[in-house]
Amino acid sequence: MNFEKLFLESKQESLFGRYITLENILPILNALNQNDNLKVIGKSVEGKEIHSYSIGSGSTKILIWSQMHGNESTTTKALFDLLNLLNSGSELAEKLLIQFTFCCIPMLNPDGAEKYTRINANEVDLNRDFQVLSQPESTLLRRIQSEFNPDFCYNLHDQRTIFAAGETKNPATVAFLAPSYNESREINEVRIRAMNVIVAMNDVLQKYIPGQVGRFDDGFNLNCAGDTFTNLGAPTVLFEAGHFPKDYDREITRKYIFIALVSGLKYIYENDIVCNETDKYFNIPQNKPIFYDFIYKNIKINYDNRQIITNFAIQFKEVLVENHIEFVATLVDIGDLNEQFGHFEFDAAEKVYSDDWTNIPKIGQNFDFYLGDNVKVVNGLPIV
Ligand SMILES: [Zn+2]
Repeated sequence: MNFEKLFLESKQESLFGRYITLENILPILNALNQNDNLKVIGKSVEGKEIHSYSIGSGSTKILIWSQMHGNESTTTKALFDLLNLLNSGSELAEKLLIQFTFCCIPMLNPDGAEKYTRINANEVDLNRDFQVLSQPESTLLRRIQSEFNPDFCYNLHDQRTIFAAGETKNPATVAFLAPSYNESREINEVRIRAMNVIVAMNDVLQKYIPGQVGRFDDGFNLNCAGDTFTNLGAPTVLFEAGHFPKDYDREITRKYIFIALVSGLKYIYENDIVCNETDKYFNIPQNKPIFYDFIYKNIKINYDNRQIITNFAIQFKEVLVENHIEFVATLVDIGDLNEQFGHFEFDAAEKVYSDDWTNIPKIGQNFDFYLGDNVKVVNGLPIV
């Protein structure tokens, strides 16, 4: 299957970048609403409508939700690319619609999406609310899961740029998890079904992004949606869209999430026999938080009476400014950093640090600085 071509044919061009709100997706949902697919299933804390989009008539039921964390929009883009594929009338689309019934909730947390926050308008992390169900959004997802009774749940997220696939210099561009259903992280039939799908998606992704797929930590937390649904007997796959070099808009990662979604579905409809791919699942390297956006090495700092040679770790903060996200480089660590990597690395070769203030770097600072006489660092990047 030519996934690259399929992606380009299916891509929802009107969705771009990191800031995706209800206002952006509503016209697309309305345009795709040919056969009563679209339903308002509930409201957010601030009264925004939460929608489901259902399509297909097959016996295998898949529940997909995205943006339960409002600032995690990459998978929402990929979900719309998938909806376009399903509406394309192609042979593949027909096959998928005969095999599957999809119930998609493309934006579970529209308030958080608007504010570009992980949490909802009551400042609750919805993915830690699945036991107390204190929020309308989490209660809604729990209700839909119970009514729809899916064969698979797809729990779509973004992860930060800090993760590597294992202890390597490869960013975890995509990461997966088959969540645990109990404290001892036992493996049962439910988890095996999720793991098998992950292994199939990983096999395909390795052809495109070798070494850039990670496995998320399976520590048990019943407050999370995935752990709760696995515990209730619904195989659940957590998708994490992560960093691809220089792709801060996550337009490249979006493609790999689309490829993962399609290849996972293809695997499910081509494989009736229940096999056990758990070994292959655990061979996927675990996500390790060892990256920063920038590392500057060998910077000389003049303190009162002494000089030290040290290293800077700089991380982008994502700030919502007038309908778009600005990436603001912020100094987050000074020190050894021997076990960390930078997505961008620069050797200052013992040039002296200076800035327009005190010439003493401070954690949390986000102003530009100088290295020696001829390098100015502007928003994290050196201008020589
Ligand atoms: Zn998330």
